[in-house]
Amino acid sequence: MGDGRIPLSEPSLDGNELAYLTECVETNWLSSSGPFVERFEAQLADYVFPDGGGHGVAIVNGTAALHMALKAAGVGAGDEVLVSSLSFIAPANAIVHAGAVPVFVDCEPDTWQMDTRLAVDFLRNGCLPRDGGLYNRDSGRRIGALLPVHILGHPVDMDPLVEAAREFGLPVIEDATESLGSGYRGRVVGSLGDIACFSFNGNKLVTSGGGGMIVTRNPDWAGHARHLSTQARSDAQEYIHDRVGYNYRLTNLQAAVGVAQMERMPEKKLAKARIAARYREMAENLGGITFMPTADWADNVFWLSSIRIDAGEFGLESRELLAFLAEKGIETRPLWQPLHRSPAYAGCLRLGGAEADALYGESLSLPSSPGLADSDQDYVIEAISVASNK
Ligand SMILES: *Cc1c(COP(=O)(O)O)cnc(C)c1O
Repeated sequence: MGDGRIPLSEPSLDGNELAYLTECVETNWLSSSGPFVERFEAQLADYVFPDGGGHGVAIVNGTAALHMALKAAGVGAGDEVLVSSLSFIAPANAIVHAGAVPVFVDCEPDTWQMDTRLAVDFLRNGCLPRDGGLYNRDSGRRIGALLPVHILGHPVDMDPLVEAAREFGLPVIEDATESLGSGYRGRVVGSLGDIACFSFNGNKLVTSGGGGMIVTRNPDWAGHARHLSTQARSDAQEYIHDRVGYNYRLTNLQAAVGVAQMERMPEKKLAKARIAARYREMAENLGGITFMPTADWADNVFWLSSIRIDAGEFGLESRELLAFLAEKGIETRPLWQPLHRSPAYAGCLRLGGAEADALYGESLSLPSSPGLADSDQDYVIEAISVASNK
């Protein structure tokens, strides 16, 4: 214990992964069509919409899924899209890939998620309705969509945002890549807006090695996203393409792993909750550390258990703790540089940002692999306690 490295997050391949991959090889179905792709799509659509009516479109990764969702939702060149500032950079990049412009929205300290009241205030007071659209008063650009990112396994407070979106006729695209399995006021994350995107990257709750998915109840949008992501081929025999498309298909091999992983969702959720409960207890017993908050309306899936450090009380800054733990073979990670600070988005539009800046400076994500052994977690907790007494 403690002599090996404890990673931040590694997958558990403890289900039917190998059996399904073997089936792919034995049946010669490897590439971008095949039975596992369809099974995976149905499985996720049914998970997000348990009452039925959902459509899943498998995509090569989460970033590409976001790109396709933006196109399906009608976001076009020069549109502005409101997106969380405290997020991995993928949704902002997808907005730019779609020809649009991100507007970064600060987070709120009670949930660490997008401050939806700030976003709604901007829609009401910083924008003007005109010609059936809503336009930014300052830039003159049309608002194309709202793209809340449910970070770390906790949902964004969606109701105020969705209500304003309905009022102004704006599509809501959920980046649910980090929060598969979480819930909001009794509803499944991914079913809260008009279209949602998931990622099956190696460190996500469910992985297919790499992969992504769009889920929506809108059959036209699902069809459009499928068409665009398969080179927009309108005649399969004659190879006629009605527009410029993309090669964003997921392979049957990847989907086979994804199907096996989805079957283990209940176990994965339980593992994440158990890990989170032990870190929360640690935080309650140590001065200067708070565990990531969970709102009373949220079913948190705790994708990455994270803590916020009050350096004055704890005795170390977050990055000092990171270095101390790294020396002991424990991998931790800061949250992401807020996107309004990113060199990639210099000069961007933004609504606030001070809360995201503070959280970025003070927070760390802790080892949270679904297969994390109790003894390894003991070692992490012990190391953090030792650090607090330094
Ligand atoms: C992981 C992730 C994505 C998608 O990542 P891919 O590697 O492209 O699958 C998108 N948004 C967020 C917030 C993520 O964490």
